[in-house]
Amino acid sequence: MPTSRPVVALTRTRGADARATADAVEEVLDLLDSPLDALEPGMRVLIKPNMFQLKPGFRSNPDILVALARIAAGRGAKVFVGERTRNLHQVLEGSEIHRYAEVVSFDDRPVRITQIPDATSLRVPIAVPDIVLDCDYFIGVPQLRTHSSVVLTNAMKNLVGLLPGYTTRIVHMAGVEESIVDLNVLRPQQLVVSDVTSVIEGNYPMAGEVRPVGFLAASTSAAAVDTVTAELAGVDPEELDYLRYAHERGLGPAGLADVETRGTPLGDLAFRINRAPSRIVPPREGIHIHAETACASCRRFVAAALSRLHDELMAYPGELTVICGAHETLPPLRGAVVLVGNALYDHREAGVYLEGCPPRAIQIAGFRQAIGTAVNPEERTQFRVPGQRSTAGLPQPAPEELV
Ligand code: SF4
Repeated sequence: MPTSRPVVALTRTRGADARATADAVEEVLDLLDSPLDALEPGMRVLIKPNMFQLKPGFRSNPDILVALARIAAGRGAKVFVGERTRNLHQVLEGSEIHRYAEVVSFDDRPVRITQIPDATSLRVPIAVPDIVLDCDYFIGVPQLRTHSSVVLTNAMKNLVGLLPGYTTRIVHMAGVEESIVDLNVLRPQQLVVSDVTSVIEGNYPMAGEVRPVGFLAASTSAAAVDTVTAELAGVDPEELDYLRYAHERGLGPAGLADVETRGTPLGDLAFRINRAPSRIVPPREGIHIHAETACASCRRFVAAALSRLHDELMAYPGELTVICGAHETLPPLRGAVVLVGNALYDHREAGVYLEGCPPRAIQIAGFRQAIGTAVNPEERTQFRVPGQRSTAGLPQPAPEELV
């Protein structure tokens, strides 16, 4: 029966081995009426996993990549598996993927300076790897994760990893929620196979734990996958600003009612993901937080940072003032001072300034700088200190930069 609603196919994996995962991939593709039948010999297919970290379990299931690449190569396509940073070479070392696909780091590809049409946040031209622009068919394979700034990351946010090197910083400087939508305008995914065989939950990306769950969610609509997986994880999709912006720009459904689901019933797959901290809890007296005027994203960043730095803040004997959100005049500055978010640019000389809307997880190094804990030279590039005129001479950040 034809439907105008986007379809999301769901299937439980019957085991954790490669065969069971491949069976599940074939099942969701069947439920979607075999979208890969559109592939023709010579087409360039790009598969984008979430695979920029080396920490065990913090990556899309490689067996999903192998299953998709095998099918695409079997139809005569030239298949690439691409991701920012060179870590995916290490993660996929010895993998069967090399039989079917060329593994590429976006850091090593030529880039083209590209203006995203009708961008609302990434309005300046950005460097985009050639293969992202030139591929004929684009498949996203994200891993569902909690996220301390945007609540959940899955299909739509996976595209932040299309940008090479350290340019993902620009996404946070420009405003992460709208930038996610801009990147999905730049290069829509023709197919998403979301890996919920395991998820990352808790205080990710500042920390986080792997949790086996055991299903796949697939669609030709990234926003529809994100809507359904949010519901299944016990998160109201309305909490995800990028989904709301996507709907307003005609890229996605308004909610679950606008999506057709097929396969395993929702009730059989629902679980409750352990979310990143969202309540700001100063760990002790003398830690002064002023975040009343901040929006939810920056407040979540501060909550996650305080949780991650709990032990260090308990050991630090002095006072600390953390300010977040727009302030015409600053509150009393007691002890070390950290200024969180672009809204405080005018006051950047008052303390350690973490730019971003909101800042990235890795920028919690600025808290450590403020309380006198050693930061390494790479972390030192993540914040501005009073009187700073330049970071010339500082080394580039590590490639596994957390966003
Ligand atoms: S900088 Fe301002 S608008 Fe941006 S996330 Fe922070 S509080 Fe919100």
